[in-house]
Amino acid sequence: VPTDQVSPARDRDGGGGGRPADVVTAARRAFDSGVTKPRAWRVAQLEALRTLLVEREEEIAAALHEDLGKSATEAWVTETGFVVREIDHTLRHLRAWTAARRVRVPLSLAPGRAKVVREPLGVVLVIAPWNYPVQLCLTPMVGALAAGNAVVLKPSEVAPATSAVLARLLRSHLDRSAVHVVEGGVPETTELLAQRFDHIFYTGNGAVGRIVLEAAARHLTPVTLELGGKSPAYVADDADLEVTAQRLVWGKFTNAGQTCVAPDYVIASRPTLEALKPLLVAAIADAFGADPATSPDYGRIVSRRHLDRLTALVDPARVVTGGRSDASTCYLEPTVVEVRDADDPAESVMREEIFGPVLPLVAVEGLDAAIELITSRDKPLALYVFTRSDAVQRRFTRDTSSGALAVNVPLAHLAVPGLPFGGVGASGTGAYHGERSVELFSHTKSVFALPTRPDTTGWVRPPFTSAKERVI
Ligand code: NAD
Repeated sequence: VPTDQVSPARDRDGGGGGRPADVVTAARRAFDSGVTKPRAWRVAQLEALRTLLVEREEEIAAALHEDLGKSATEAWVTETGFVVREIDHTLRHLRAWTAARRVRVPLSLAPGRAKVVREPLGVVLVIAPWNYPVQLCLTPMVGALAAGNAVVLKPSEVAPATSAVLARLLRSHLDRSAVHVVEGGVPETTELLAQRFDHIFYTGNGAVGRIVLEAAARHLTPVTLELGGKSPAYVADDADLEVTAQRLVWGKFTNAGQTCVAPDYVIASRPTLEALKPLLVAAIADAFGADPATSPDYGRIVSRRHLDRLTALVDPARVVTGGRSDASTCYLEPTVVEVRDADDPAESVMREEIFGPVLPLVAVEGLDAAIELITSRDKPLALYVFTRSDAVQRRFTRDTSSGALAVNVPLAHLAVPGLPFGGVGASGTGAYHGERSVELFSHTKSVFALPTRPDTTGWVRPPFTSAKERVI
């Protein structure tokens, strides 16, 4: 059983350096040599990464199973295959995304030529969490490599098997001079954060996000924060409740609820909630059978500490279904609980992001009360609305703020490569996926050139005549 306390304190890097500081120096040397800039290098790295993921799928799936009890299918759909699709999309469009773009020049500056070019930033640090330890390490890396950067990757020590397999495979498949992996926990990450990077891409909780931001400020390094929080799901009275229940169960209990965009809690009117309850119970049984502990498709909690945190959230008197756990296997049954008063500080399930297989149900008066509840809290990473009404959809689009708004389906928006993925406010800063990733890991440089002859700048230089002033 993995524990959060595991800190391998190893420095496994792809480039033969030693301590994190040496790794960053090696990565910078590679970037400064210019090796990462040609498109051919970028394509070769992405293709090598694709080969690694496809050929070593089983090895990676075994590590994910060891860390999180993920089924091989879930591992492919949400991790390995997810990154493969991101690579394919990026390879298909890389030429267009990295091409210089002409910009119109005002007549007063003719015959000048203006364009914007995307240039790589330099050395990018990617710090990843444990819940999707392949996807969240490699998807940002795809963007960073596609944009021509050197990369230092810090996988999460809380998923140690996946961290080890990624370190080993990246070292053997990618350019070891420019792609580095530093394994380890807080001490290694702290040492990394003392170095100067050109961009830091952090995915994880907000408390560490603040540490990252403070460290980055010392070097004026730009930061992307992919954070979490409570993502609500509002079920309107007109929703198709049967499909809603099935999709909520899928969204909530994938990876045993350890998904940053999992529906954290459900809001609905009392009658809708009562109608939804038996459908949720049935959908759980449909997905995982009478005893989810025996389902190969149901994952485990990452560590004993997180299991204890989650079981403490479950008040047996409020359980609609589930609630059983087994500490020896880090198992927590898919659980639905009822909330009496969402604003009562004693309601522990409503205080913080649950990040596990516990789904609270909150009754509200109606649409206005639901929107008030949502907007009175931190801006969520995802907001879900289940409805057949365009008016309800429009209301949420206009009157709420969230990283993403998804209608009638959780999680799936991540798989639309053209949609930027990121939070707002407490759920994060910045976004990535597809072209947005290439943009994120590039500097958009303005280039302007004006021929010297004929010299057309006379009108802007002193001495100013009244005629000139009028032109200006
Ligand atoms: P975690 O414990 O694995 O931590 C994330 C990373 O931060 C790890 O690499 C870890 O080594 C590093 N870290 C931990 N403590 C540190 C410290 N004191 N100093 C420097 N680095 C440190 O993962 P987690 O934070 O428990 O991840 C879960 C959170 O991440 C949830 O809130 C979830 O919603 C969020 N999340 C967000 C996204 C997203 O894309 N927005 C995706 C997944 C998870």
